[in-house]
Amino acid sequence: MSAGASRSISILGATGSVGASTLDLIRRNRDAWRVVALTANCNVAELAALAREFGAEIAVVGDESCLPDLREALAGSGIEAAGGTQALCDAAARPADLTVAAIVGCAGLAPTMAAIEQGGTIALANKEALVSAGGVMTAAVARHGATLLPVDSEHNAIFQCLHGNRIEDVARITLTASGGPLRTWNAEQLEAATPAQAIAHPNWDMGAKISVDSATMFNKGLELIEAHHLFPVELERIRIVIHPQSVIHSMVEYRDGSTLAQLGPSDMRVPIASCLAWPQRMDTPLAPLDLAALGELTFFAPDEERFPATRLAREAAQAGGAAPAVLNAANEAAVAAFLAGNIVFTRIAVVVERILERAIPPAPTSLAEVLAIDGEARARARELLEIA
Ligand code: NDP
Repeated sequence: MSAGASRSISILGATGSVGASTLDLIRRNRDAWRVVALTANCNVAELAALAREFGAEIAVVGDESCLPDLREALAGSGIEAAGGTQALCDAAARPADLTVAAIVGCAGLAPTMAAIEQGGTIALANKEALVSAGGVMTAAVARHGATLLPVDSEHNAIFQCLHGNRIEDVARITLTASGGPLRTWNAEQLEAATPAQAIAHPNWDMGAKISVDSATMFNKGLELIEAHHLFPVELERIRIVIHPQSVIHSMVEYRDGSTLAQLGPSDMRVPIASCLAWPQRMDTPLAPLDLAALGELTFFAPDEERFPATRLAREAAQAGGAAPAVLNAANEAAVAAFLAGNIVFTRIAVVVERILERAIPPAPTSLAEVLAIDGEARARARELLEIA
């Protein structure tokens, strides 16, 4: 990117793993960017340090009780400080050329929708928001003339492989999955998996929630639904293949028998850079792939007996209505319980399946309805978790 062509950016979830990778790239291209808003939940020290370093206009904590500390940490800097859900949405609604949506969970939905309503470009990492809101979000994107760029490495790969082609010519999309750290574990071992073991991803360095999702394969289930919303391809034509090396990030097969794949190091700075520079390219500090050193790339069919999450996600997407939102909410509640040491690893999928067996509301038609469905499903899952 050339100096002088300064663009503005807001990062929702600036203190997280995707936020840090984004800011690392911005730091290397300091003159190319003007930072508008940076947000966190309550990591005040990190947020204030980043806001000062990047000269942000405003720093926001989602947890309002952390606002006094943020004010103190930013004293004398001239940077505005704000707190609470509405403040997150107000900050997200400030004009910015690009908004990176990287809050974890459905907590990121309302701020992401506020950014979409400005009609700008949103680099979306927060997959739970799209899975929960589905048509509500895609309709808002269309209505407000916004652009969604996928940050998720698989969807970013698909986005790149679709470029210059017609969607009608797509025969199939293949989402690759590493299989996570517990891929080869048997049922008994899975039952005893600890949070530390579930988080220890072999290829990617990510936040705790998505790391657990990767271990259960709910991450791939959420990505299946995410892909279905981002790319107009029927669910039946989106398949999942296990590829433990995480070198091929996903593939698009065309009707003439050609399959296009995107390859790259397993470092989120690659797909993030693709969004930051889109529709151009930019430098990253990453070494190019050394295929000879990698030696071999392997592929396996998923095992939905040991890892039922992809089946549950496919069934939820097929069932339609609010089922994907319910699946996401139940999973968020169950992952939180697992991380807190309250349930065993295998109970996560059991709880999600139980919640999905109950009556599912019709598809939400507004943000308020999505949030109500999310809250209700979360409450039911927590009840179930307590009696587990
Ligand atoms: P992290 O847990 O590392 O970071 C989450 C960020 O969200 C932090 O800034 C955190 O603030 C903030 N946050 C958490 N809860 C709230 C809340 N209730 N209100 C407002 N802000 C909140 O997550 P990741 O960066 O790993 O993931 C972010 C999103 O990107 C997820 O949806 C994930 O699925 C997706 N993603 C992540 C990838 C990765 O490599 N990490 C890859 C692809 C997608 P605080 O620090 O104060 O807690």
